[in-house]
Amino acid sequence: MARRRRIYEGKAKILYEGPEPGTLIQYFKDDASAFNNQKRGVIEGKGVLNNRISEYLMSRLAEIGVPTHFVRRLNMREQLVREVEIIPIEVVIRNHAAGSIAKRFKIEEGTPLPRSIVEYYYKSDELGDPMVSEEHITAFGWATTQDLDDMLSLGLRVNDFLIGLLLGVGLKLVDFKLEFGRLYTENDEMRIVIADEISPDNCRLWDARTNERLDKDRFREDLGNVKEAYQEVARRLGVLT
Ligand code: UDP
Repeated sequence: MARRRRIYEGKAKILYEGPEPGTLIQYFKDDASAFNNQKRGVIEGKGVLNNRISEYLMSRLAEIGVPTHFVRRLNMREQLVREVEIIPIEVVIRNHAAGSIAKRFKIEEGTPLPRSIVEYYYKSDELGDPMVSEEHITAFGWATTQDLDDMLSLGLRVNDFLIGLLLGVGLKLVDFKLEFGRLYTENDEMRIVIADEISPDNCRLWDARTNERLDKDRFREDLGNVKEAYQEVARRLGVLT
């Protein structure tokens, strides 16, 4: 459908020009990738589920006053979002050890962390998203100290809120990744907002009782029933239609 201009195509989503200036359409694909694109696959129906799950979580965040780029869902695979300048930093927030931190420090997966740990990664496929410190981020000009302050306080608020919301439906928020953007308002003010998506593609979600993994680790580690896991998350959140 050549009805609009494609602005950007990533691994799991495509961004199209939006209906009015300052907006974009975010299209959710079924494509999955892991380990810096070394593993690729298709999870049938994932785009539809992530569109719904992210719509739901972004909307609940907006209700508590956390600014996001999300405007509204348009259809099964698309949502209208505000155009932002993406900050090239992935913010990872961890509540339990899993994935890279479990490996680096030889901590058993699932071990609760004494407090939430925040990590920053520089978004670069070429470099394999290296972990960076605040010093690197400000020295190389990827974000200012003010941007970082806003990202940290928003990130921790999102974490506290999502821990509770998800536990309410029997899910443990083990860790997740957030992306942020700069939103420029009409009077040329700038606000940091949550961008991208919040879904089982970028959260580790375990069943609170059994620790069953209900997220992209099922794809990363070939655990099977990947689509079913995403469906289960959507079902628990009440967005499976
Ligand atoms: N994550 C992500 N995109 C990335 C890297 C990590 O969404 O490029 C998410 C991942 O799904 C997990 C959290 O960030 O919820 C922490 O990931 P980790 O550093 O453990 O890396 P991984 O083991 O996933 O490679």
